[in-house]
Amino acid sequence: MNAEEFRKHGHDLIDWVADYLENAEQYPVLSRSLPGEIRAQLPDHPPEDGESMDQILDDFRRIILPGVTHWNHPRFFAYFPANNSGSSILGELLSAGLGVNAMLWQTSPAATELEETVMSWLGELIGLPEGFHGVIQDTASTATLCALVCARERTTAHSINRMGPEGLAGAGSLRIYTSSEAHSSVLKGAKIAGFGAQNVVLVETDEKLAMDPEDLDRLIGMDLAGGLVPCCISATVGTTSSTAMDPLVPIGAIAKRHGLWLHVDAALAGSAAIVPEYRWIFDGIEAADSLVFNPHKWLLTNFDCSAYFVKDPVHLQRTMAINPEYLKTNQDHEVNNFRDWGIPLGRRFRALKLWFVLRNYGATKLREIIALHIGLAKMFAGWVDESSQWELLAPVPLNTVCFRWNPGGLDEAELEVRNKALLDRVNAEGTIYLTHTKLKGTFALRVAIGQTATRNKHVVEAWEKLNSCL
Ligand SMILES: *Cc1c(COP(=O)(O)O)cnc(C)c1O
Repeated sequence: MNAEEFRKHGHDLIDWVADYLENAEQYPVLSRSLPGEIRAQLPDHPPEDGESMDQILDDFRRIILPGVTHWNHPRFFAYFPANNSGSSILGELLSAGLGVNAMLWQTSPAATELEETVMSWLGELIGLPEGFHGVIQDTASTATLCALVCARERTTAHSINRMGPEGLAGAGSLRIYTSSEAHSSVLKGAKIAGFGAQNVVLVETDEKLAMDPEDLDRLIGMDLAGGLVPCCISATVGTTSSTAMDPLVPIGAIAKRHGLWLHVDAALAGSAAIVPEYRWIFDGIEAADSLVFNPHKWLLTNFDCSAYFVKDPVHLQRTMAINPEYLKTNQDHEVNNFRDWGIPLGRRFRALKLWFVLRNYGATKLREIIALHIGLAKMFAGWVDESSQWELLAPVPLNTVCFRWNPGGLDEAELEVRNKALLDRVNAEGTIYLTHTKLKGTFALRVAIGQTATRNKHVVEAWEKLNSCL
């Protein structure tokens, strides 16, 4: 593609994306595509000769678009959001245009130093105390895996990195504590990092679905008595099912007493802490060794961009460092080489899009949008609470409402069948998209409010749609 063609198609595509975001509401939120339907329309073999961009874009519209679920639709209420914004998309475009690999300081000094700057800004915006150092990871799953590996190496004085499983030298298994409401990435990370699924100890939750610190303490005590080796606590601030908040103050005290690594997973909720009224979600964060939250969920920065903060970057680097001859540079002693702050060697220039978002919106506007979404969730929760047909199933501290249709007189099994059927009906209709979870065994519908363009009327429409699909 020559520069002239790039310019032409680039302008056309920017127009297309602008129209798309402006008119996303015209699409069914959840793709209607059936399994195999897209694949069947694509050739089995790659083209021998190049095709025109017009042909390719035509196929994009005709074949690919119907197979897209519209995450940036203002009536997307499923899972957690993966929102974006014009500023972020332009930052992403620039990052692709530069095509930088930000693995070392020298491979693009601006990429490293801008990342240091925006991560420090982000820490300030969420009220993080002094002493944390930030790095951008692709996802929260990766950040949590980093935390688990760092915990493993701190507990074993770096002997697993050196010797593999023999580094345990006959000591009992290393144990990870997390609540029964924690995200699956903790279990996955434990498997990958070699802890073993059976060493992930699930701590009970209280009536608000938050980790019970007494049970945590009891489980650690039992493990110590049984010759096992407590290693890490992974607390969740804003669980995926219901945004429950594990209490960091007592959990931090327990971690400190036993010398355990404290990782805090605030993948969605972390963004809320930019609003002063929601800073409390991080009360006790000073006890954490590591923290992750995702600007790609709820801070208008398109996927992927995950903010990982650590207390001891030297330990992180010591855990992750590799130093082959071909990666050595003259500046190594005075700069950050972010290749040693995570798992992959190659790294995208993600700081650009975050910088664009933070500057173009500014803290005030970002706070307004988050506060708006939280207000809408509380409004929706109010309607549920007031109705005799519906029932709230969890507290609503932030943007996510867990609820079900329950007019009375039906048993649990029947309620599950009826609510599942309602969910399928609503999603098939296409106006809104929501998903479900189970809270202590109870089937719950879930509305998570956080897309960039989601406003009052979309939430009103969601409530009306749910009621009209009964
Ligand atoms: C979404 C979520 C994750 C996973 O995030 P990725 O960035 O997709 O890995 C982890 N933890 C919690 C609490 C989440 O809500």
